[in-house]
Amino acid sequence: MSQNGKLVIFSAPSGAGKTTIVQHLLRKIPELEFSISATTRKARGDEQEGKDYYFISKQEFLHRIAKKQFVEFEEVYSGTFYGTLRTEIERIWAKGKTVIFDIDVEGGLHLKRKYDGNALAIFVQPPSLEVLKERLTGRGTDHPEKLKERFEKAEKELNYAPQFDIILKNHDLQTACAEAEVLVKNFLNN
Ligand code: 5GP
Repeated sequence: MSQNGKLVIFSAPSGAGKTTIVQHLLRKIPELEFSISATTRKARGDEQEGKDYYFISKQEFLHRIAKKQFVEFEEVYSGTFYGTLRTEIERIWAKGKTVIFDIDVEGGLHLKRKYDGNALAIFVQPPSLEVLKERLTGRGTDHPEKLKERFEKAEKELNYAPQFDIILKNHDLQTACAEAEVLVKNFLNN
């Protein structure tokens, strides 16, 4: 097992733009590799098994919790679990790469505490809650009741921003991507 790899954690309320920023960094910085989470939710749109997520049943998820296979996991939305498998981090570190996470706010803070010193934790801040709601609604991939749950969760999550190493404002996606690139490259070079 390889030790002492680095981790770059991107957290934000859903709809703040973190997935786009993480995808940009993966294209630009070859030392990074995406941590594929396990989830019990169904695949959306063109999401692929083993690329975007490991889509598993709730029964399998609970079995893996019992076997202590997760570094962190959460019931992010009621009845829907998401988690980071220990083997995922080890797989990426074994290649000599840095793990990059697209993860919810509590999960991000959990990882930051666990790997403090080796981790850079970035909170992506949307311009406002109103803009966030517009982006989530415009995405059109969720049912209205799921959307409501995402809004409520987002409102709470915005309060966690000061606990991260860096707050990255996403008023303009291109600017935020460029800023993220500088921050991550500096972290990797130190
Ligand atoms: P989505 O359903 O939109 O793909 O993800 C919902 C939320 O769960 C997002 O904030 C996403 O970043 C987060 N998430 C994805 N994987 C994990 C994980 O492994 N652990 C935790 N705690 N959250 C995750």
